[in-house]
Amino acid sequence: MRPKRVLILMSNTGGGHRASAEALRAGFLACYGDQVQVDVIDLLIEHLPWPLNWLPHTYTFLIKDTAWLWKLLWQTSNHPMTIRRLSMIVARWGERDVTKVFASYAPDLIISVHPLVQEFSLRALRHMRRRIPFVIVVTDLATAHPLWFHPAVDGCYVASKEAYQRARRAGLIPEQLHLFGLPIRPVFAQPTASREELRRKLGLDAQLPAVLIMSGGEGVGPIAQVAEQVNAELATPDGPVGQMVIICGRNQHLQERLQSQRWVTPVQLCGFVENMDEWMAACDCIVTKAGPGTIAEALSSGLPIILSGFIPGQEEGNIPYVLDNRVGVYRETPAAIAQTVSEWFTERSEEFEQMQFAARALGRPQATRQIVESIGELLFY
Ligand code: UDP
Repeated sequence: MRPKRVLILMSNTGGGHRASAEALRAGFLACYGDQVQVDVIDLLIEHLPWPLNWLPHTYTFLIKDTAWLWKLLWQTSNHPMTIRRLSMIVARWGERDVTKVFASYAPDLIISVHPLVQEFSLRALRHMRRRIPFVIVVTDLATAHPLWFHPAVDGCYVASKEAYQRARRAGLIPEQLHLFGLPIRPVFAQPTASREELRRKLGLDAQLPAVLIMSGGEGVGPIAQVAEQVNAELATPDGPVGQMVIICGRNQHLQERLQSQRWVTPVQLCGFVENMDEWMAACDCIVTKAGPGTIAEALSSGLPIILSGFIPGQEEGNIPYVLDNRVGVYRETPAAIAQTVSEWFTERSEEFEQMQFAARALGRPQATRQIVESIGELLFY
C-alpha cells in the first residue's frame, strides 16, 4: 500500500518553525513508520514568486536591526478582520504557484507551521480535484498573531490557554481546536543519558553547575554582553562557581567574536547545534530570549529560565507565561542576569528548586506525539 503523504509547510524565519516542522516529521515517523511519507518545504522562499518570496528574508533584518518597525507592523496587523482582508488580496498573487506545488506533491494532508501560508494554501486547495485536509500547528506559545487562525481549517493545534482564547476570538470553534503544547523534537521526551554522562560527552566539567546561554536559531540580542558578565560573576578567588555553554546559532559573527575572547570561567562555545536536547539536559538553567521553541524545550528539560529579552509582538506574551507559572525570571540587563545565575548556583535556594520542579510540571514533552496521533485520525480514518 502506498504510504500516506503529509506535506508540512514552513518558512525559515527564525529557528522555531523549522524546529517544529522537524519535530512533527520525527513524530510521524515514530508513530507510523513507513505508513507515512513526510515532506517539509519552505513554501514562502522556495515556491512563491518575487516579491513575495523575498518577504521572509526581511524578518531577520527587522528583528535584529529595526525591532521598533517590526513591533509597529505586528501591532497594526493584529486585528483578525483587517488582516484577513489584506491576506486575501496578497494570496491571489501566489495562488497559481501554490496550486502547482500541491499538485506535484499530491499530499493526503497538509500541515502549516507558519502564520503566513494559510491564505495561500486554502485558496490553492479549492483547485485540487480531491479534498485535502489542512491543519495548523501554531508554533507561538502565548501571543499568537491573528494570521495564524483561519476558520476554514480542519484542525488547529495550540500550545497554551492564551493561544486558545486568541483562536476563539479569531472565529475558530472548540471542535476545531486542540491544546496539547508546542511540538518539540521527540528526543526531549526520552533523555538518553544521565547529566554526568552527557557532560563528559560534551566536554563539560562533570561537577560544576552549568548555565546555557542562547538566543534563538539566529543568535540575536546581547549574547556577548551576557556571556562577558556571567564570565566575570562566576569567577571567584577560590575558582569558578559555575561553567557556561554559549550557543550562537547561525550567528557566525558572534561565534568568531567570542572565540577570540579570554575567559576565566570554563566555557563551551558552539555555533548551530543539532543536539539541543543534550545541551539542555547537561545544564542547570538557561538564559534565553523569550522564544517559544526554546522555552518549551527548556521546560521539558526541567530548566529554570532567565529571560533576557523578547521579539516585540509574538514573544511578548511569553514573559508573563514564564513569570506567572513561576518557572523563571525576566532580567533586563546583562549584569542583572549574571547576578541571578551566580545566586542560583551559589545559594541553591528553595525558589530555584521550586522552579526546576515547576518547569518539569509545565513542560509537555509528549505534545508532539499527541498532536501527531490526533492528526493521524484525519489521515487514516
Ligand atoms: N536551535 C537549535 N540549535 C541552535 C539554536 C537553536 O536547534 O543552535 C533551535 C532551538 O532548540 C529551538 C529553535 O531553534 O527549537 C529556536 O526557536 P525559538 O522559538 O526559541 O526562537 P526563534 O529562533 O524562532 O526566534
